[in-house]
Amino acid sequence: MRIVVLAGGIGGARFLLGVRAYAREVGAAVTAVVNVGDDLYVHGLKVCPDLDSVMYTLGGGADPERGWGRAGETWAVRSELAAYGAEPTWFGLGDRDIATHLVRTTMLTGGYPLSAVTEALATRWQPGVRLMPATDDRLETHVVVSDPDGDVQRAIHFQEWWVRYRAEIPTHRFVFVGAEAARPAPGVLDALASADVVLVAPSNPVVSVAPVLAVPGLREAVTGGPAPVVGVSPIIGGAAVRGMADRCLAVVGVECDAAGVGGLYGSRSSGGLLDGWLVAPEDAGAVVPGVTVGSAPLLMTDETATAAMVRAALELV
Ligand code: GDP
Ligand code: CA
Repeated sequence: MRIVVLAGGIGGARFLLGVRAYAREVGAAVTAVVNVGDDLYVHGLKVCPDLDSVMYTLGGGADPERGWGRAGETWAVRSELAAYGAEPTWFGLGDRDIATHLVRTTMLTGGYPLSAVTEALATRWQPGVRLMPATDDRLETHVVVSDPDGDVQRAIHFQEWWVRYRAEIPTHRFVFVGAEAARPAPGVLDALASADVVLVAPSNPVVSVAPVLAVPGLREAVTGGPAPVVGVSPIIGGAAVRGMADRCLAVVGVECDAAGVGGLYGSRSSGGLLDGWLVAPEDAGAVVPGVTVGSAPLLMTDETATAAMVRAALELV
């Protein structure tokens, strides 16, 4: 069996731990197609937050408390940069993490595409699933905001909105810069064409899953492909389990609950994404027209619990 997972960072990474555990049990192969909309250059280094969250988590190198970055991290470089007054000060890079970004940036500068760089980095981490960026091309999520002290609109990088402003400024919309010209990374369309099932991780639907699907041809390969598509709700009982998905959903005018997100994805039978939608037991009454809704405990407390989620998702189709 071949499983393809569309994933963002932390939610995607934790979900993939369960997918990998399930896959080992049944002998399945897993491909993760990961969001690159959060990627940015900081202090000259190319940082891919979602790819790194997935790679470190699956490779056993992630900080378990923070959920992002490396375990056992130190911050000497950050202090030195601060002593220079080097901007941006709101995006901290840990010393261990910096090694990843140095290798990545060197390879990109040398002409390797991001997909090849990701594969090279994964040789160290052995994530046990095939990791792919959604695209090798530039695709950045920007956020159109108003300055707090005026009504002038400007677009800022998603990371500035998220990390610096904690999503707490007047926000109008998200723009996936570069999306129109982006192409799916090598292997992504083949993986989708030969998939037995596509799982949409309980990732942020607006800023993790949407930018993946914004790559021309990718959404069509999912919705027009042979494999059934099952999503897992990142919203339990009307709240995002962690993170600020509620803020993102408010910006796009979608109710922050399991039915709202299911409706945002829509049913594959009427031009949307999903055949199945797995929600938490407290959301079992959620209705998404045209989609088979099932329920199971959705807290990703450990690999066993998450593997059970995966099994429940697969049983829907
Ligand atoms: P990010 O890129 O690091 O923000 O991570 P993702 O987009 O992959 O995932 C963020 C989403 O994961 C948030 O919207 C959370 O609601 C969701 N999430 C986090 N932990 C859990 C969990 O234990 N269960 C479920 N169902 N969703 C979770
Ligand atoms: Ca992210």
